Amino acid sequence: MNKKKKPLYYYYFIIMIVLILLNSFFSGFLYHSRQQEVSYNEFQTALKDKKIDEVQIENETITYTLKNDEKKLRYYTGNMQDPSLTEQLTEAKAKFQRIYPQEINPFFSTLITFLLPLLFLWGLGNFMFKRIQKKLGNDGMTFGTGGGLGSFGKANAQVYVEAQSGKRFSDVAGQDEAKEALLEMVDFLKNPKKYEKIGAQMPKGALLVGPPGTGKTLLAKAVAGEAGVPFFSISGSEFVEMFVGRGAARVRDLFKQAREKAPCIVFIDEIDTIGKKRDGGGFSGNDEREQTLNQLLAEMDGFDGSKGVVLLAATNRPESLDAALLRPGRFDRRIPVELPDLKGREAILRVHAKDVKIGTNIDFNAIARATAGASGAELANIVNEAALLAVKDDRSVVSQSDFDEAVETVIAGYQRKGAVISTKEKLIVSYHEIGHALVAAKLKNTAPVHKITIIPRTSGALGYTMQVEEQESNLMSKDEAFERIVTYCGGRAAEELIFHSITSGASNDIEQATKIARAMITRLGMSDEFGMVALETLNNQYLGQDTSLMCSSDTAAKVDNAMMRLIKEAHEKAYTILQENKDKLHELAKYLYEQETITGEEFMKVLNTEA
Ligand code: ADP
Ligand code: MG
Ligand code: ZN
Repeated sequence: MNKKKKPLYYYYFIIMIVLILLNSFFSGFLYHSRQQEVSYNEFQTALKDKKIDEVQIENETITYTLKNDEKKLRYYTGNMQDPSLTEQLTEAKAKFQRIYPQEINPFFSTLITFLLPLLFLWGLGNFMFKRIQKKLGNDGMTFGTGGGLGSFGKANAQVYVEAQSGKRFSDVAGQDEAKEALLEMVDFLKNPKKYEKIGAQMPKGALLVGPPGTGKTLLAKAVAGEAGVPFFSISGSEFVEMFVGRGAARVRDLFKQAREKAPCIVFIDEIDTIGKKRDGGGFSGNDEREQTLNQLLAEMDGFDGSKGVVLLAATNRPESLDAALLRPGRFDRRIPVELPDLKGREAILRVHAKDVKIGTNIDFNAIARATAGASGAELANIVNEAALLAVKDDRSVVSQSDFDEAVETVIAGYQRKGAVISTKEKLIVSYHEIGHALVAAKLKNTAPVHKITIIPRTSGALGYTMQVEEQESNLMSKDEAFERIVTYCGGRAAEELIFHSITSGASNDIEQATKIARAMITRLGMSDEFGMVALETLNNQYLGQDTSLMCSSDTAAKVDNAMMRLIKEAHEKAYTILQENKDKLHELAKYLYEQETITGEEFMKVLNTEA
């Protein structure tokens, strides 16, 4: 299967050659080429001298041999036939014969005009079919129907196992709790006897839940790598495919093979695609999916955990899973794989930095602090971006500044070096950003300013102010939440104060401020008016912040009012702070305008020097 495919035109070429050869053969090209052509005169002379032995007359040619000579001679008569030819030939005592154009052998003509193209199309179809199948297959395991078009629609999915995942627990940084929970499974896979003796039942399945990119797939692979057992991996989306009934067949096949290969691990990635809650109603939109889920449930009940088949699944939408999947005896163990904390982020950066050449004195802690909320996948991406930057500059090792730039690239997009910004706009952006920074610096419960820049980014940001917490905090007080909104208002407030006009540059600030204000009132119980009442629920714990209201429309209107009041208050506070520090605002904005990028220390130095 893995032999290199010859390109399509290669087959075209061969077929063309064959056709040309056949064609020339039947049209007599080869046959005629062994004859010598002569003129009419020569034939006439030979006829008169009675030297001619045998003659064959065809439509347009006359072929003859001379007496005592094997060589065939031929001349074209065109369409004119000499009416007296027969007479002359009889007189010359030559043997002669009239030949009618030869029909091509009917067998061959059928072959060429009918069977050959058919054969070619069949081959082409087969080829494309295999290609499509290859595309559908995931990296972990490949399902193939083997026979191409021949077994089209048959549900005999084959399962290929990834022999060794090659990943170990040491490749997974942070996530210590998850690793500990999985270690037990590794031990069980290594010596199932130990558990059997005591009569302990291993949980049949564990469900890894957490936001995208936190290392769920990686953990599952590491379990297989640690235990040294076959790893059957399939993504939920692969079950739901084009042929009805195939999903269930695949589940059946998967478990059949797993039982044969035990001890082993069966990993179902993105299980929410098949494991979604089934509808209660009679008219179901996706019968196929339900059938697959039912098959999965049946298989899970059918196998006996002591055989050494461990089931792992991963999802980032646990709340949408069917309850039947989560009940005891099925995926009853839930292993949270959360976003990494400060220590975890540092560890993940170090794991990935092992693969690249880094300079000395890289402060991984600083990078980890600047990337609060980043997932493992994003951190891996940051390390790679940093390495790419080093290559771009023709350096042999990755430096701290590469990492700093990579963080910004991942957060805000690439620098738009060629972007043309008018001086007026550049000035507005300078004041806007200093507005944020100054307000943040004058408030007590905000994170220190780390960097301010007015170099535009591909994300569309014309500049931004980066704040980095000194320490990671898991709780947010009401003051902190409010002062965050005040800081967001600082940009717009500076524009108003200095230019007496406002721009669209604050759109992202407005969105963020509104989000926090809304959460404070509806979910965090931080408003005097509503207190500890949940007015909204998060629909999805791990994906985005999509919420739904849980209150009457009357209350919803009141929530909107409270939100507007809160933001108005924050905006007034920001405006007052800037008004009181107008001189510094001018001084810092001018400084930023000239420098384009300034660090937090530079900012504080200018702020704290007496004019
Ligand atoms: P998920 O399945 O949770 O969405 P993955 O396991 O596919 O995430 O992670 C994607 C990539 O991110 C991994 O291949 C790895 O390079 C990196 N990664 C994520 N989490 C970690 C971690 N805890 N330690 C090391 N690398 C990680
Ligand atoms: Mg994954
Ligand atoms: Zn702003």
